[in-house]
Amino acid sequence: MPETPTPTPTPTPTPTPTQRSLAIDNIGSLITNDPTLGRGSLGIIDNASVVIVDGVIEYVGPAGALADDRIDADGACVLPGFVDSHTHLVFAGDRAEEFTARMAGQPYDGGGIRVTTDATRNMSTGALDGLVRQRLAEAHRAGTTTIEIKSGYGLNVVDETRSVEIARRYTTESTFLGAHLLPAEFEGRADDYIHLVCNEMLDAAQPHAKWVDAFCETGAFDADQSRAVLEAGRAAGLGLRLHGNQLGHGPGVQLAVDCGCASVDHCTYLSNSDIEALAGSDTVATFLPAADFSTRQPYGDARRVIDAGATVALASNCNPGSSYTTSISFCIAIAVREMGMTIDEAVQAVTLGGAAALRRTDVGRLTPGSAGHATILDAPTHHHLAYRPGVPLIRQTIGPLGSLDPIRPQRGSTR
Ligand SMILES: [Zn+2]
Repeated sequence: MPETPTPTPTPTPTPTPTQRSLAIDNIGSLITNDPTLGRGSLGIIDNASVVIVDGVIEYVGPAGALADDRIDADGACVLPGFVDSHTHLVFAGDRAEEFTARMAGQPYDGGGIRVTTDATRNMSTGALDGLVRQRLAEAHRAGTTTIEIKSGYGLNVVDETRSVEIARRYTTESTFLGAHLLPAEFEGRADDYIHLVCNEMLDAAQPHAKWVDAFCETGAFDADQSRAVLEAGRAAGLGLRLHGNQLGHGPGVQLAVDCGCASVDHCTYLSNSDIEALAGSDTVATFLPAADFSTRQPYGDARRVIDAGATVALASNCNPGSSYTTSISFCIAIAVREMGMTIDEAVQAVTLGGAAALRRTDVGRLTPGSAGHATILDAPTHHHLAYRPGVPLIRQTIGPLGSLDPIRPQRGSTR
C-alpha cells in the first residue's frame, strides 16, 4: 500500500461575517477523489476533516480543523455526494403491475410507456412538481447531491415543455428528451414526430434545458433520426447526450462519439469497435445496471470498457418502467458483483464519473475549491457500499437537493 501523503495543514478559514463555516470532523476515511491528496486512486485520507464555507470546500486535511459549526463523523467514511447523471423523475403513476408480471414470467400488455405518458399528460403541473420533489428527497436521503433530470413522458409540445421546466426548477442538469419514444398519435409517422421534436418542441423546451437527448434503439429512433435531434439541439445551444445500445448492438455508441456527446447511456451491448471509439473519445460510457436488473437483461461489460481506457459512469436511470430506484448504492453493489468493477472503480463511477458525464469539474470530489457536497456513511469505509448491499448506509447527506428549494423563481404560465 502506498504511503499516505500528509497534506499540509492549512490555517482555519476566516469567513466573512455573513458566511458560517462548517467542519465535518473526525472522519475515519475520507474519499477525496484526488490522488495527490491521499492514497490510491480515490485519494483517501484517514483521520480527516473537511471545512465548507458558503457551500465551497476550503480545507481538506488532518482532523481537528475548527469552524463555526461542526459535524462529528465519529470515525465514519465520508465521500463526495453521488452524482446521478441519468434520471427520468418527471412522471406520474407507476407500473408495478407490469413489473410484477415480468418477474413472474407472465405476458403483460398493460400499455407500457403509454400508461406513463397518459398519466403524465393528465396530471396538473403542481401535482407533477410535488412528485418530483418527493423523488428528489428520496434521492437525497440515498446520498445523491447532483442529479440530471430528463423530460420524455410528455411527448407533445406542451407536456414536454412543462416537464423540462419542472426539472429545471431543481437542477441545472435538465435534459430535453422529446425523442424518448414515438407517441401513439404518431404511429407510423416517426419522421413527422422527429420534425416536431427538432422544431416547435425544441424551441419551446430549450429555454429550460441544458441538454438534449434521444433514444437511439430499434423500436425507438434510428441513427438518422437521433442525429437530427442531436444536431438540432446543438444548433439551439444545448449539450448532447444519447441513450444507446440498451436492447442490442446498434449505432448509438458510434453516433454519440461522432457527435461529441458528453455521455452515451446504457452501453449494455458493446462491440469491440464501440469500445475503441469510446476509449478514443471524451464521451463517457454510462452504465445503468438497475435497468438491466429490472428487465432481466445481461449487464454491461464495464471491465472491458475501463481496461480500454474509457471513462465510465454509473447512474440510477430512475423511471417507472425499467428502473424505479433512486439508490446509487444499489447500482454500486450490482456493478461490483456483476460488471467486473472493483469497489474503488464503482465509487469513482458514481462520483467523478457522473461529474464527467455532465462535464462538471466542481462536483464528484472533495477538494479545496469544489462544491461542499458530501455523504457520511454509517460505515468505516466505502467498501461497505458493496459489502452490505441493501442496507441503508447513508447517515447524512450534505449539500444541494437538501433544501429542495427551486433554484430560481418559477416562470411562465404553465403551472
Ligand atoms: Zn433513460
